[in-house]
Order: sequence, then structure tokens, then C-alpha cells
Amino acid sequence: MRRGGDMTQPILSLRGLTTAFKTEDGWKEVIRDITFDVQPGETVAIVGESGSGKSVTSLSIMGLLDSRARVSGQVLLDGRDLLALSEAEMRSVRGNEIAMIFQEPMTSLNPVFTVGRQIAELLIRHGKVARDQVRAEVLRLMDRVRIPNAAARMEEYPHQFSGGMRQRVMIAMALAARPRLLIADEPTTALDVTIQGQILDLIKEIQEEQGMAVLFITHDMGVVAEIADRTVVMYRGDHVETGATADLFTDARHPYTRALLAAVP
Ligand code: ADP
Ligand code: MG
Repeated sequence: MRRGGDMTQPILSLRGLTTAFKTEDGWKEVIRDITFDVQPGETVAIVGESGSGKSVTSLSIMGLLDSRARVSGQVLLDGRDLLALSEAEMRSVRGNEIAMIFQEPMTSLNPVFTVGRQIAELLIRHGKVARDQVRAEVLRLMDRVRIPNAAARMEEYPHQFSGGMRQRVMIAMALAARPRLLIADEPTTALDVTIQGQILDLIKEIQEEQGMAVLFITHDMGVVAEIADRTVVMYRGDHVETGATADLFTDARHPYTRALLAAVP
């Protein structure tokens, strides 16, 4: 978590982000007027029940929706509007500046290549390390995310890894780009509770060490309490409340936030 410090220019600012999908009855807005900032080094959570528009928000930020989606408003990364960039420029932003991890790591891993090869290819693609340093950097990243016995495990295939270990691989791949912003969309939702805690601890540790900003998406207020400095609450496509996480837990204004809190054991 962020430890004090002054607020500087936000790394990410959403201004009136609105996304509609084309349906048989015309355009249907699924998120409306989403506005909030993420400061450098800060962890901001988006919380809301399933279907509230959290994933659409992250996909809109990353430019990952297809032409049946209409995205408007502004997505400012260091003041530069990502919605105005070309697809090629956006690919470079995704490769170099923003990394993303998802709920289901298997869908982002190629089943026919070893884990080590997939991390190595990313490093080569990003051009962040010299060719003769790639293997050492793969090992360093796998160690960094605490995959035991990395030298042997880099030769294994994704299906040989447990869910938690696969999510560690995804985090290693996200770190390969040395991003300044990590967007994590329910990265612990599919995991057992003890593994969830370990992955959250790892993300926190890396976030503090690297001063990376994190936008952490979850439906779980318990996870929010663990990880977020500030929290944005979404309800049916609307952004209903934002506050310091500690304040939300003691002084939630919106009835929906209170309902979410009531569900925390
Ligand atoms: P969450 O991540 O909060 O569970 P989503 O962002 O995935 O919710 O979905 C928000 C709403 O947008 C849902 O009603 C969902 O059905 C709709 N939606 C998501 N993706 C599409 C799409 N590609 N086309 C049409 N509707 C979509
Ligand atoms: Mg989702």
C-alpha cells in the first residue's frame, strides 16, 4: 500500500468513461460516466457484484474491446488520452506501460510452450534485456514471484502448474514489461482461500518494492480491505462511491456499499 507521501499527477485518470455495446435494440450502455484517479504507487480497488461493469471498465482502459463497443470519455495515462491512440500505439502501451492479469491464467498462457519460453519471449519482445541475459532474467522473475525450483520449472508446461502457481507465472509475465501500472481483474477469485492470501501478499510486496500503481478489481470486500488504499464502488454500471478504503468500512455513504460490507464475514 501507499505509505503517505504527497499526491502528484495521477498516473491514470478516468474522466466520464462510458462504454456501450451494440445490441439488436441499439446501443446499450453498460458503464456510465466512470471518473476516478490512480496516483503513482497507489492501489485502487474497483469493487462491485458480478455484472456491475468492472471488467468492461478494465477492457475499456486497455483498448481491448472490439468494434461492437463504443467507448467515450477520457482515459488519461500521465495526461495522455489513450482513447485517442491508434491500435499500434495502444499495443505498445499494453506491452510497455500497463500490464494486466486476469482471473483465469490458463487462457493467457499457450499450452504448447514451456513457461520459461513464454516469459523469455515476452522479455525479448519488450526488448528490456540483452539476449544473453534472457535466461537469467526468466529465472530472476520466477524467483521473484516465489516459484520454487525455478530452473527446473521453467522447462515445464502450463498444465503442470497449479492454479496459484499459474497466477504467479502471470505476475512474472506482467513484471517482464516493468510496467508502472498493473490492472488485476479478479486475479484471486478462482483460487483457494489460502492461495488467495499468498497471491495478495505477493502483489502487495511487489507493489511496494517497485512503487507500481495497481488497479485491483474484485467482488470481494475482504480482498479490498487487504489490498486497497482507495476503493471505487460500482453498481450496475455506475460509479456510486469512492473513498479511502478505511473510511468506506467505517462510513460508507451509499446503501449498496453498506450492503456489500454486510456480506463480509
Ligand atoms: P463484472 O466484471 O463487474 O462482473 P462485466 O464488466 O463483465 O461485469 O459486465 C458488465 C455488463 O456488460 C454485463 O451486463 C455484461 O453482460 C455486459 N457485457 C460485457 N461484455 C459485453 C459484450 N462484449 N457485449 C455485450 N454486453 C457485454
Ligand atoms: Mg469481471
